[in-house]
Amino acid sequence: MELYKENELKIYNSLTKTKEVFTPVNEGYVGMYVCGPTVYSNAHLGNIRTFMFFDVVFRYLLHLGYKVRYVRNITDAGHLENDADEGEDRIAKKARLEQIEPMEVVQRYTVDFHNVLSKYNFLPPSIEPTATGHIVEQIEMIKEIIEKGFAYEVNGSVYFDVVAYNKDNNYGILSGRNIEDAIHNTRTLDGQSDKKNPQDFALWKKADDRHIMRWPSPWSDGFPGWHLECSVMSTKYLGEKFDIHGGGMDLKFPHHECEIAQSKCCSGKDPVNYWMHTNMLLLNSQKMAKSTGNFILPNEILTGENKILSKAFSASVVRFFIMQANYRSILDFSSDALEASEKGYNKLMEAISSMEQIVSSGSSSVDISGWRAKCYDAMNDDFNTPILVAHLFDGVKMINQLKDKKETITKEDLTILKDTMNAFVYDVLGLLNDAKEESSAKIDGVVELLIKLRKDARENKDWALSDQIRDELAELGVQLKDGREGTTYTIN
Ligand code: AMP
Ligand code: ZN
Repeated sequence: MELYKENELKIYNSLTKTKEVFTPVNEGYVGMYVCGPTVYSNAHLGNIRTFMFFDVVFRYLLHLGYKVRYVRNITDAGHLENDADEGEDRIAKKARLEQIEPMEVVQRYTVDFHNVLSKYNFLPPSIEPTATGHIVEQIEMIKEIIEKGFAYEVNGSVYFDVVAYNKDNNYGILSGRNIEDAIHNTRTLDGQSDKKNPQDFALWKKADDRHIMRWPSPWSDGFPGWHLECSVMSTKYLGEKFDIHGGGMDLKFPHHECEIAQSKCCSGKDPVNYWMHTNMLLLNSQKMAKSTGNFILPNEILTGENKILSKAFSASVVRFFIMQANYRSILDFSSDALEASEKGYNKLMEAISSMEQIVSSGSSSVDISGWRAKCYDAMNDDFNTPILVAHLFDGVKMINQLKDKKETITKEDLTILKDTMNAFVYDVLGLLNDAKEESSAKIDGVVELLIKLRKDARENKDWALSDQIRDELAELGVQLKDGREGTTYTIN
């Protein structure tokens, strides 16, 4: 039986501001959309916090046995310098400053993003669509919104009519803002704008002569508004109504509010059942952000090359640090905090490695099923990773007592203990055992060296030595295989 059938998962829904029992649209399947990076610069650790949390959500849903389609987009056009539809496209600006093609900017930072995520042991999403790959669909959606009476064209640009939409819908359903507040918070129009109301937002912008990222459309050569791509791509790949939509809290308004409005006026449905928002990673008590220069890059932590760090830290230590906080709380980054996490992480990994030394006996003096249930309860309670980590440390305590023979455990319970530890630490939290990785890299080096010495021996026709190397390695469980491309090996 799939685990999801025996686990009642609850999710804090930012839309209703309550924890709700998770019931997917289609039993056994989950559709999840997370707003991806705007690839005009390297993703900073704040961005990584958000993506890492959703990586863990993805991992836990898979662990529970759901078939998950996880869509995380790449924003490669349309995201302007500010949220009020003004300024240059972020990617075009970078391209202009560096005198390269916008698509070179996109390629560079997409590759960097993927490299970082792979170093930090992320699972790839099921689909990673790009905004520029969906211009045709975006134009189609704008046509539909105009037809339904919720958008208007002015001088080649098309704007969403928030006032018209708000008559029968609630523009503010997610963020809690009302239109009056929005008017108040938006810069008053200076007569230069084409918008009927300051809170209207762009679906299509006519490109001026300097704007090189442009596509033909019924209204002008131009480019789509930033909010549109997510409505288009989530509908295309997950349907008009899907399960989970995620992103950082700073995307609630205007981005996600606009997404709801766009999708709803096309389909008539609220597009998302569970909205999830992560809180911010702080540095020096302020939001980590590219625009203010208050950030640290994930690669800098791996090399230690940033003056705020006392030393380098492994990706798993950073992951552990991020998982020690609840995703809905702010988290303060510091070198000291990483050092504390490193101690905890090492303790956890040592205990996991020492599970092999536990000898089972006829009865259990420890309550393994109760402990396992607590681990699931923590994750079922809105993915409460810090509580899970606390239970994993109860597991550490138990392992140490079992190892020292202060407690006893049956063979069956020992299997549950090992499986549960491995499942939560590796599969769900996505941690790696760095020490194990390091030592297996060393073993690889030693075997490669012996292969080279054996090759030299054969070249010198020293068959006795070459056979000795092969046979003694085989006795240790290392099988050498000679092929046309050289010698390879397998370790049993
Ligand atoms: P961007 O590339 O700016 O669109 O951001 C990508 C994701 O990172 C979005 O979901 C943002 O909400 C999120 N994000 C940005 N800054 C932070 C931060 N300091 N802490 C956590 N998440 C962040
Ligand atoms: Zn988005």
